[in-house]
Amino acid sequence: MNRTISLLIAFCCVALLLGRISKSDDASKPPEVKRGDPITFSVKEYNLKDWQEKTKLGADFWFKIQGNGWYVDWDADRKPFTTIVIHHSATDKDATSGQIEEIQKKNLYTSRYQSAIDPFVKGLPPRSGHVVNGKERFIGYHHLVYHDGRVTTELSPLVKVNDVWHIDHVAWHAGKWDVNCSSVSICLVGDFSEKEPPEKQLFAIAGLLAHYRTINPMVKITGHKNHAKTECPGETWPLWKKKIFVGE
Ligand SMILES: [Zn+2]
Repeated sequence: MNRTISLLIAFCCVALLLGRISKSDDASKPPEVKRGDPITFSVKEYNLKDWQEKTKLGADFWFKIQGNGWYVDWDADRKPFTTIVIHHSATDKDATSGQIEEIQKKNLYTSRYQSAIDPFVKGLPPRSGHVVNGKERFIGYHHLVYHDGRVTTELSPLVKVNDVWHIDHVAWHAGKWDVNCSSVSICLVGDFSEKEPPEKQLFAIAGLLAHYRTINPMVKITGHKNHAKTECPGETWPLWKKKIFVGE
């Protein structure tokens, strides 16, 4: 009898322990974010209550990182695709996507995650949540266009939500969060402060713009300087923008 009781107690202990373990496992899991479920918040103005209301999960779930497990899902704020923003990399024409990414990771993500601008992510390891081919990317451009006419896709540009094309990976590039959430960013590799991009590069970006116009014929095509205090995409922009706005 005694043996049965102690076995029973031991069994209960193990069951309790297992229960606790699986419970704490659940708590350490990231909240399930369904791709394309838009949650509206403004990066600078959000607060815990707002998040709790909108996510129904409690803000703690969104702002804790355990190990390398989870992160703030900035893309949850994705909006319908309305705008294209054109940039130049302000680098050598042969800069690689890795080199551009390194600069942007430092200037955009690392600085945000270290500064008091954002008390929720301050001190946490920077996470973009933009995983492409198994690698987390910190570049702020969906596409790079090179001087020889090569075009690359760096981030996932669009996702269809309820039959409407939304931005998939919200790239950090325009200097305005609302614009980031609704725009595809295209960067011409090179520095166009003094000279215009070569013909092959202009031809390639014109093709890319034509492609996006088939997706949204009303898309607004803009330069970075239309949204922020910057010379990007370079002082020569007025000379070549007419050449690439196909049909305008
Ligand atoms: Zn720019």
